[in-house]
Amino acid sequence: MRELFPLSASESDFLWPLPAPKPPRGGLPSFVEALQVGVLFGALCALGRLFVHETHHIAAFWPADGVLLALLLRRPVRYWPRILLFAWLADAISVLARGGTISMGLILAGCNMVEVMLAGVVLWRGLRAYRDVASPRFMMLFVAAAGLAAPALSGLLAATYHSLAFGDPVATIFRHWFPSHAFGMMLMTPLTLALMDPALQKRFSRRHILRTLGAFLSMLAFCLVIFDQNRYAAFFGLVPLLMIAMNQVRIAGTAILCFEFVAVASLFTLHQHGPFWLMGEGDLAKAVLLLQCSGFLMVLWIFPLAATMDRQRKLRVGYALGMRRYRLLADNSRDIVVVATLEGRRIYVSPAVEDVLGWRQEEWLNHDATDTMHPHDIPAFQRMLKGLTQGIDRSSFRYRTRHRKGHYVWVEASMRVLPDEVTGEPDGFVASVRDISERVEAAQKLEEAHRMLQQQAQRDGLTQLSNRGYFDEALEREWRRGRRTGNPVALLMVDLDHFKQINDSYGHRAGDQCLRHLAPLLREVAKRPSDVIARYGGEEFALLLPDVSLDAAMMLAELLCIKVREAEFDIGIGRPLPLRVSVGVAAEIPDKQNRADHLVEMADRALYTAKQLGRDRAAHGNQEISSAHLMEHMQ
Ligand code: GH3
Ligand code: MG
Ligand code: MG
Repeated sequence: MRELFPLSASESDFLWPLPAPKPPRGGLPSFVEALQVGVLFGALCALGRLFVHETHHIAAFWPADGVLLALLLRRPVRYWPRILLFAWLADAISVLARGGTISMGLILAGCNMVEVMLAGVVLWRGLRAYRDVASPRFMMLFVAAAGLAAPALSGLLAATYHSLAFGDPVATIFRHWFPSHAFGMMLMTPLTLALMDPALQKRFSRRHILRTLGAFLSMLAFCLVIFDQNRYAAFFGLVPLLMIAMNQVRIAGTAILCFEFVAVASLFTLHQHGPFWLMGEGDLAKAVLLLQCSGFLMVLWIFPLAATMDRQRKLRVGYALGMRRYRLLADNSRDIVVVATLEGRRIYVSPAVEDVLGWRQEEWLNHDATDTMHPHDIPAFQRMLKGLTQGIDRSSFRYRTRHRKGHYVWVEASMRVLPDEVTGEPDGFVASVRDISERVEAAQKLEEAHRMLQQQAQRDGLTQLSNRGYFDEALEREWRRGRRTGNPVALLMVDLDHFKQINDSYGHRAGDQCLRHLAPLLREVAKRPSDVIARYGGEEFALLLPDVSLDAAMMLAELLCIKVREAEFDIGIGRPLPLRVSVGVAAEIPDKQNRADHLVEMADRALYTAKQLGRDRAAHGNQEISSAHLMEHMQ
């Protein structure tokens, strides 16, 4: 879902903006900027030293180095030398201001620079590798480099200088230096980064400001309550409040919450108040060390926790956002979007179902797709579902589904399998269902028109019997079939007797009527679906009778003659007109030597024979015209 709907930049504020937007190359602005950082650092050092002096060399944390480290990380590496140079000089001046020598100033300031530089280089490389300052790996690196290694190195250098210059024991100086620097880095670097973070500004927007101020003020008030007393050592009472406040101000604000705690704790402990003073049992140095250790540990767990909370929140928001956009797409689609189980039970139906099929969403929900499906389409649908469970991941299916008003609508469903998120096995399917009734109707009409055209091309306009073209095709087809089956094919050639006279006497139209009236009689004789009755030409008809022997064909021919004889033809001349036909019969079992034309020739010859024998009769090809017959005819 996240790939489909990536969060916009403003929604994704996991990263503190590191490094800063590119400043102009070199020149005066970067010089001024470096000077500003240097002055700020110098001022912090001066304040720090003043504070340390006031508290007789006991300080909870040294803030300047952590601030400088954060400012460095926010600037391109190429500015670092000039920033460090100004910071070094400013720090040295602050030493001079407190009465130190130049060499002392340069060396002690140098120790601070070594500390910041070491932490800076390690973290800069770490940032390039991990990108995200809230990632667990970067946090571990931060603790190791800025919280331990860098203060330890600077502490060693400073303690060595002190022991060489003033004969102070190395351990004593290190004990003062290391914890305050380590704690200072752990506290001030995140705080400075947080203060520069646009995500923090968002916490002060109109929507959030009350909650943000509420969190900061209640934290401050609670700290004051806990530390402005000397009875209870229970500073862990802060933890629940801290958790609630963290949730309100997110990771950037958490740095401020920590600072509030440490600032209040330091002030009150140094003034011999609060839980740490109680736990120090009258030893201020011990009380401050306890504060430093507790503060260090707090920072150690609180930032990873805040980062995890933030990340989870973002994922939740991103997921909900993605789902909302997805639903929006589905809800506004003109197609019906359906999500269903592999058994075909619908678990989501988009509102389009109402427009397309008249059903309300809830009427379709939790019902089987087959409930509204045309019974004829169900087996194919079930086969397709089976295919989806067996590894086919998409499919499209046309079927008829019932409209709420009762009629069926042709639809086409494009389906895709939804895999189970854990196992990857098919878990259901999503279908986009589209009304295709217009398309199907158009296709059906086209098919119908095509069929009609085809029929017309095969039909005789006057009698509505098959035409000569169709007869030729059918004859070839039946002839081939007869060859395969070994069954005979019979042909009756029917010709109206003395038809010319009818035309001459009553007109061509009357003649046409005769032909029309003859058609039903022919149909009565050739009744089988496989029989073909065609107008062969003029007033001549052909009856193609597959699987009929010569004898049977002769009987049918004679039957036809009787039927015609008995029929009365009303052709609009005021009285019924008698008609007679002659029929030439041929039947043959097709074999390789014979062609279909041969059957026609035989039937033709038989027709000729029938005419010769006196008309109004049937004759077959093998019949000889005996002289007796001829004589009879002549008389
Ligand atoms: P016979 O008994 O020997 O068959 O005599 P007949 O007069 O029928 O002779 P023939 O078969 O040679 O005559 C065909 C006549 O059929 C010629 C023509 O006037 C007529 N005829 C052919 N086709 C049509 C048609 O479509 N309509 C009409 N009215 N008459 C047709
Ligand atoms: Mg004829
Ligand atoms: Mg004729």
